[in-house]
Amino acid sequence: MSTEAPEPHVRASAALFDRALSVTPGGVNSPVRAFSAVGGTPRFMTRGAGAYLWDVDDNRYVDLVCSWGPMILGHAHPEVVDAVRAAAGHGLSFGTPTAGEVDLADEIIRRVAPVQQVRLVNSGTEATMSAIRLARGFTGRTRVVKFAGCYHGHVDALLAEAGSGLATLGLPTTPGVTGAQAEDTIVLPYNDLDAVRAAFAEHGDTIAAVITEAAAGNMGAVAPAPGFNAGLREITAQHGALLVMDEVMTGFRVSSAGWHGLDGVAGDLYTFGKVMSGGLPAAAFGGRADIMARLAPAGPVYQAGTLSGNPVAVAAGLATLRAADESVYAALDANATRLGELFTESLTAASVPHRVQFAGNLVSVFFTEDPVVDYAGAKAAQTWRFPAFFHAMLDHGVYPPPSAFEAWFVSAALDDEAFERIAAALVPAAAAAARAQEPA
Ligand SMILES: *Cc1c(COP(=O)(O)O)cnc(C)c1O
Repeated sequence: MSTEAPEPHVRASAALFDRALSVTPGGVNSPVRAFSAVGGTPRFMTRGAGAYLWDVDDNRYVDLVCSWGPMILGHAHPEVVDAVRAAAGHGLSFGTPTAGEVDLADEIIRRVAPVQQVRLVNSGTEATMSAIRLARGFTGRTRVVKFAGCYHGHVDALLAEAGSGLATLGLPTTPGVTGAQAEDTIVLPYNDLDAVRAAFAEHGDTIAAVITEAAAGNMGAVAPAPGFNAGLREITAQHGALLVMDEVMTGFRVSSAGWHGLDGVAGDLYTFGKVMSGGLPAAAFGGRADIMARLAPAGPVYQAGTLSGNPVAVAAGLATLRAADESVYAALDANATRLGELFTESLTAASVPHRVQFAGNLVSVFFTEDPVVDYAGAKAAQTWRFPAFFHAMLDHGVYPPPSAFEAWFVSAALDDEAFERIAAALVPAAAAAARAQEPA
């Protein structure tokens, strides 16, 4: 409940946020949307088309969040919207199998070679939670290794030193997770194979799985060092543990086969979400057929969902993947490169210490001169420059992720006009970042 009168151009958003604060904790349904790390009024959006979003005050923004990844084709893509309309016209949910689920599973399996079977779920969180349960059921072991700064959804056992919203809010962990759940989780620095080897030397016969973001995108874009994923593959195989590749963010975005398409390392289990849902709630986990065979009703590890494989969500996902051909991936890569170049140009001109990083076509700008290879590095950057940078962009019609610890997401719909707007916004944004003062 803001005490100051809102600026005229955000009046309607401010009024809605006040109402939201009284009916929803923090006024939002997912923490990062509240602008906690950047301050100001969260923008309530009314519509999107192509590269743009419009808010309730009728401000227009170039969207560089893309619903945190899913909207690779841009907003309201005609083929996706038509598919959703057609599916909705035939009924919203049956609680029975439908043909579309088989088609979507086929499409995922066709694209990602190590995935032989998939199970559809409703969110990335559900996918990682289920994959971990399956890994424990399959191996008969309890411990899970995760990396600091990686985010795998809000699964109890995986919240320790997580990226995304926990990084934004500066939370090392969260109340509500029991000691037993936390004890079974071993948190290691990202990109540090020696730490992985040491953990396996000590606990190897009790580790069910290593879960990693195929390329880290939830502490900003931090690509795996050359050989890191391959090293995880080797160490887990030696010790009879499973390698769970979380491709919820990278899957079907960084290439048609996700990060696997870029480094070729094969995980035992995979998790997907975001792009494969086309913007509706759908996600999946999958992998080796002998492991997936342990899942109910084929096997004893239980997992279920009233709305899993929902026909409308499946239609959106399938239409998105079918439209995402090589020209779309080429456009995403080119747009990420172009965005990165604009960051470099504007921040160099304003003499702001910075480092532009890529993980495939995920882009990040860190306010530091040192390469960021792990969570400690991401936290050591001058994140206090970010709020000023963010708000200058927002004021100039560009919607960036409202946190220094998030990747920027491009769509294939970004065109020259959108890039001109981004370039124009970056001039005052870089100047604002240069002027920002470190809090005492
Ligand atoms: C977004 C994300 C999740 C969680 O997905 P939700 O659909 O938000 O539950 C899990 N893992 C990674 C890598 C993600 O980026």
